[in-house]
Formats: sequence, structure tokens, C-alpha cells
Amino acid sequence: MASTESRAASGWTAALADELAGLERRSLRRAILTPDGGQGERLRIDGRDLLNFTSNNYLGLASDPRVAGAAAAAAREYGASVSASRLLCGSTPLHDRLERRLAALKGGQAALLYSSGYLANLGALTALARPGDAIFSDALNHASIIDGCRLSGAETRVYRHRDAGHLAELIAASTARRRLIVSETVFSMDGDVAPLPALAAVARRHDAVLVLDEAHATGVLGPGGEGAIARAGIDRDGIVVVGTLSKALGSAGGFVVAGATVVDYLVNRSRPFIFNTALPPASVGAALAALDVVAAEPERRARLDALARRLREGLIAAGHPPSASETPIVPLLLGDAEAALAVERRLRAAGVLARAIRPPTVPEGTARIRFNLMATHDEAAIDRALAALPPPP
Ligand SMILES: *Cc1c(COP(=O)(O)O)cnc(C)c1O
Repeated sequence: MASTESRAASGWTAALADELAGLERRSLRRAILTPDGGQGERLRIDGRDLLNFTSNNYLGLASDPRVAGAAAAAAREYGASVSASRLLCGSTPLHDRLERRLAALKGGQAALLYSSGYLANLGALTALARPGDAIFSDALNHASIIDGCRLSGAETRVYRHRDAGHLAELIAASTARRRLIVSETVFSMDGDVAPLPALAAVARRHDAVLVLDEAHATGVLGPGGEGAIARAGIDRDGIVVVGTLSKALGSAGGFVVAGATVVDYLVNRSRPFIFNTALPPASVGAALAALDVVAAEPERRARLDALARRLREGLIAAGHPPSASETPIVPLLLGDAEAALAVERRLRAAGVLARAIRPPTVPEGTARIRFNLMATHDEAAIDRALAALPPPP
């Protein structure tokens, strides 16, 4: 029996293996890297300590004792799992409290938690757009946005990166019933910021719904860590905000903040919300504690800014000008995947972990090293990374 099965399987697993070999030849194969300890500004991998420039743990909160302690306390009080969706019996007072806090942070009427930021994008886009509608999507939007567009069945039109003029052209030519505009606010692979006032103006002029993904902005930008939308000072009314708890907030999970009717609609119509077990209490407790730190310790954001400036200036001085980053995401564009991997290996040999980002995460020909900074890095760490770079091309 077993041997029949494995024989039957060998044909198609051989095809998978061939495809993997093809990825390997093109320097596009990926593998999991497992550090020994926790996720801080240093990682221990294969017995070596490496400076970590790869994490989205921007404020260092994932291992903050207040955040990790709140996770443990929430698990003790409410259990390791709620074992049901929110709509059955999987809600806790912590879930409700976190939603109120997120709505307040983002200046919306209501919020809804999802199990991840990926699912929050899927949940918002598939509920708000359907066949017959049109979604206008920035060319460099995250895979979770692309997948949400695809799964919605709406027609998707891609506008040039951060080009509100191109967006306006495409949307003016559209006769779709409902129009959605979707963009990241801080772009995850480039660290640049969307032209939010211009996007909001196009949305208003064409009566379109604006969906903004604040995954890399929440906790990082704005005087109180509210994000890029608050920092831009645009009218937040009518904007659907998507976010994650898994980056600067040091926890896991995602959320949508919007008007009360929109959130009520998601509760009733968003499949990644309805058919998914609610977030574990530990994740919710951790995020609540992280929001307290985000509000109370603006110096973490100031520190992150100063370190990012030091890295950008150092890269320029070293003849490696980074692209248009204005955030703690600082990419060094290298072009082809093998070149990016070579720099990754060189940095790693010098005790610096900064991963090569390759297609399909980024467009063909734009492979890069992405430095993600943390408020808990020190200047010496930045200088060590700079010193380990190859000479400029
Ligand atoms: C990381 C990321 C997500 C997904 O968030 P998770 O909580 O990790 O699922 C969504 N959008 C953007 C822009 C991201 O960078």
C-alpha cells in the first residue's frame, strides 16, 4: 500500500524537485533560517552571534519583558487558545479592549482583529470588492494585497509606484460600480511613503474607497506612533486602514480600522474573519502592552529615526546610495539575485545578518539587501554593517 502510494507520488514530487532545482540555479531558492534564542537585535545562528538587521521588531518590543509578560498573563487568565471563532465563543474582554485601542490609535470608529495582517488584507479586500468592481493597486503593494485583489474577483488595475497622476488616469477611465484604491503607506521593501494627500484627493474626486496598509508605519511614524496617515494629517474619515500587530507592536495578528458600518459589514461578510479561530489571548495581551509602550516611550521612535539617518548617510558616504527610504527600512539595491546573495554572505561572515530580498518579493532585476533597523541597535552596530559592505560598484 505504502509503496504504491510513494510510486504514485514520485512523478509529481519529481516535478516539484525539478522546479526547486530551477530556483536554485537562478539564486531564487529559499530556506528557513532558525536562530537559537529570542528575536532581538542580536541573533544566535549556528553557534554564532549576528547583528540582526532583518527583523520587523522595530521598537524591540517582541522581547520586552512588559510585552512578553502581558502575553504570559493573558494566556494564564484566558488560556493558550480561545478554541473558536469570535462569532461563536472565541472573544474575550481583551479582544474587545484591543479593538477599541486600535480604533482610537487610528482615529476610526471601530476595529476588527484578524489572525494576521495577511488575512486582514484578504478580509478587507474580498469583502469590500467583488466581480464588477475595480481595485486600483500600487505596483509595489505587498503580496497579501495582491492576493486580496485576486480573491475578490474585482478587476485589478495596477498604477505606477506612488504615481497618483497615473492612478487618476486609470480611475477616470473606469466605469466599475465600486472603485477601491489600495496602497501601503510605508512600502515594506523600499521604506518609502505613499503620497497620501494625493491618494486621498483622487479617492474623494472619484468617490472611491481608500484602503491603506499601515503594516510598517504603526508604532513607527507619527508623534504617538499612530502611523503615516496621522502624520500626513489627512482627513481619516472614510479611509479603511489595515494593519498588523506583528511588526513594531511585537506581537502577532492583524486588524482593520474603519467606520462602524464597514466593520459591522466585515463581521458579517469577511470570510477570513468569520471562518478563523480568534487570536490567542497571549497575542492580544502582548499587543495591548505594546500599545502602552508605544504611547509612553516616543524616544524609541526618535532613536529609530536617528539610527536610520546614520545608516543612510553612511551608505551614501560609502558610495552605496540607498533608494528613497524615509523610514527604518533601508534597502541597498543590487539588481540580480546572485549579487544580493553574495553581499548577504559577505555581511554574514562579518557577523551581520541582513537578508537578500529577491523576486518574487521584489520585481525582477531589483534584488537587494534590506536593512531593517531596531530602536535597540546601537551606533556601533550600524558602523559594523557599513564597514562590512563591499566596495561600491
Ligand atoms: C508584513 C505585511 C503584512 C502581513 O502582516 P502579517 O501580520 O505578517 O501577516 C501585510 N502588509 C504588509 C505591507 C506587510 O509588510
